Amino acid sequence: MIAVSLQEGAILLDPLSVRMVLGAVALTLILLSCVSSRRLRSPFSDWWRVALCLFFAGNCAFLLNGTSFLVWANPAGKALVVAGAFSVWAGARTLRDRKVSAWQLAPGPLITCFASVIDHPESGLWSGGVVYLAMTALALGMAAAELWIATSTQHRVTKVLAVTAALTSVYYSGRAILFVLEGPEGNAFRSFFGYAPAALIHLILLLSLSFTLNTLSNSHLISTLRERAERDHLTGLLNRGAFLGLASKELAGPASHHGAALILADLDYFKAVNDEHGHAAGDAALCAFAEACTASVRSTDLVGRYGGEEFILFLPGATQQRAEAIAWEISRRLSAMEDPDGLPYPTVSYGVTSTGAQATELDFLINVADAALYSAKAQGRNRVVGADPVEIPLPWHRPVP
Ligand code: GH3
Ligand code: MG
Ligand code: MG
Repeated sequence: MIAVSLQEGAILLDPLSVRMVLGAVALTLILLSCVSSRRLRSPFSDWWRVALCLFFAGNCAFLLNGTSFLVWANPAGKALVVAGAFSVWAGARTLRDRKVSAWQLAPGPLITCFASVIDHPESGLWSGGVVYLAMTALALGMAAAELWIATSTQHRVTKVLAVTAALTSVYYSGRAILFVLEGPEGNAFRSFFGYAPAALIHLILLLSLSFTLNTLSNSHLISTLRERAERDHLTGLLNRGAFLGLASKELAGPASHHGAALILADLDYFKAVNDEHGHAAGDAALCAFAEACTASVRSTDLVGRYGGEEFILFLPGATQQRAEAIAWEISRRLSAMEDPDGLPYPTVSYGVTSTGAQATELDFLINVADAALYSAKAQGRNRVVGADPVEIPLPWHRPVP
């Protein structure tokens, strides 16, 4: 039970009881975050765990108020809480893949500790109080700014977290100002900014941070799983299922009125690459071809591994001529690359087709491109065949087995 007393019209909470509750909540959150750490591991959650431990340790140190240990527990407790606030900032930075070095983290806690040490730490918990409050406000303000900037690339719940950190920073700034104006024994300070009300604010901050972190980690986990489910493991291109789903959606959408082109590509005599140079050389050729494809298309085009050494490209808005030129460009890029042993990569045959303004079924387009690809193989490989049929023999040709 939290003891509540009415004093001169103000509600004052018993600091010891509130601190015990805060400690118990922090400990529970630490345990919960450790349990979920395997599933929800991220740099942000790691920093948040560090912050929780520091807040917990700082809070424990403050419980030594009134004992002879206060002389060291007081500066240490303040330094630990400030270090916790700076850890929240460090965690927020990781959302934008930014790291924090020791020299960025250490000054805040060290200055706080020093300010408390030189201000009679044995006589009461408020030694070096203004530095402690200002440092905490600064760290949380910086965390709020980082979180706010990160909202553009992160789940929108980051915005809630940014606002919570900003409000807590404002609260700490208010504490620091009133501390200077009327001191820790002032009526307004004790009612709104003393240890007990601040501990309640800490509770809200801890719970909302933990909830947000859980949501963030879950959404991160879901997008990682989705990415894995949609990507071909070897080449990193879309796998067949994901490609077909996305291309069908594009074809059914309003953008399809501008037409689209489809390319089927098949590496020539690829079995011979495996047989003569090993499976690893074959894998390297598949990756090189995937690289040549992504380097030749726009970010809005879809590139997928259709199966084995067959690839498929969907180019929204592209004409037949443009698609054939892109196929040509892919082979030009591949011919300019070498495998790890300095050997040239295999040549490639392409079947290309395109739609007009009228919508077409994806299956139909693939069948037409497949027939063109078959024709390219039959005509001697290493060439682009349009479904019209338009043939562009490639300018380079290397002997095939
Ligand atoms: P063509 O010019 O007629 O296409 O002849 P090809 O040898 O390329 O075609 P074929 O279908 O005979 O052989 C395809 C080979 O691709 C057989 C298979 O072992 C190989 N392959 C399929 N997937 C992979 C893969 O992921 N890695 C490697 N290294 N080889 C693969
Ligand atoms: Mg082949
Ligand atoms: Mg094949």
